Amino acid sequence: MRYLLVSDLHANRYALEAVLAAAQGQYEQVVCCGDLVGYNPHPAEIIEWTRANCQAIVRGNHDKVVAGIDDLEWFNDVAQAAARWTMRRLDEQQLAYLRALPQGPAKLDHFHIWHGSPADEDEYVTESREAMPSFAYFELPLAFFGHTHVQGGFFSKRGRIGPLSRPRAQEQEYRIQLEPDTLYLVNPGSVGQPRDGDPRAAYALFDSEQKLVTLCRVEYPIEKTAAEIQAAGLPGMLGLRLFHGF
Ligand code: ZN
Repeated sequence: MRYLLVSDLHANRYALEAVLAAAQGQYEQVVCCGDLVGYNPHPAEIIEWTRANCQAIVRGNHDKVVAGIDDLEWFNDVAQAAARWTMRRLDEQQLAYLRALPQGPAKLDHFHIWHGSPADEDEYVTESREAMPSFAYFELPLAFFGHTHVQGGFFSKRGRIGPLSRPRAQEQEYRIQLEPDTLYLVNPGSVGQPRDGDPRAAYALFDSEQKLVTLCRVEYPIEKTAAEIQAAGLPGMLGLRLFHGF
């Protein structure tokens, strides 16, 4: 099976469209590690696409807050403002879809998925030592996660944990050929709001027969998303940060 992995789409329709165009013909199933909404101006469009196209999904922390499952108070002012704006923009069915999204972790045929960590969907796993408890959970050699908006992740081989790389600025992809006796905790990166210094939309492909993970980046018209953030009355810094990828 060939999979398209997406995470942290965050209501950025132009980023998602660029990802789908670049990945076209390279996957049979779509899997999502959560955070459909928040920050950007297209929550309804992303929810409708996800509902129609994702074979497997776990919810993210922004999905929970907008759905009314979790408290707004956990968010900073900018994220709160965006969450309130998003709640007003969604109809009852779209809110019900968010409310019903399953909590991770989920075990699929070839890998696990979760948003933050298997123990806590709100936990940021940014360093090798923070990845250790996640590896203890593995029943399969591969898992995909999100939440940090940083593409890459970690491997664990004979007790040693280290970071995985990602495509450099001039590259479109970085390939990870899965090796035996090694566990892989992979972040496909954020489609809609990358924070790893690379403003291009991020995603991953996984071919379970070839045991190959490909981390990918694709440019999209950031200025269109930023202009609509402005027009919608969302905080202006949400548009600015997209150009810098943080
Ligand atoms: Zn997120």
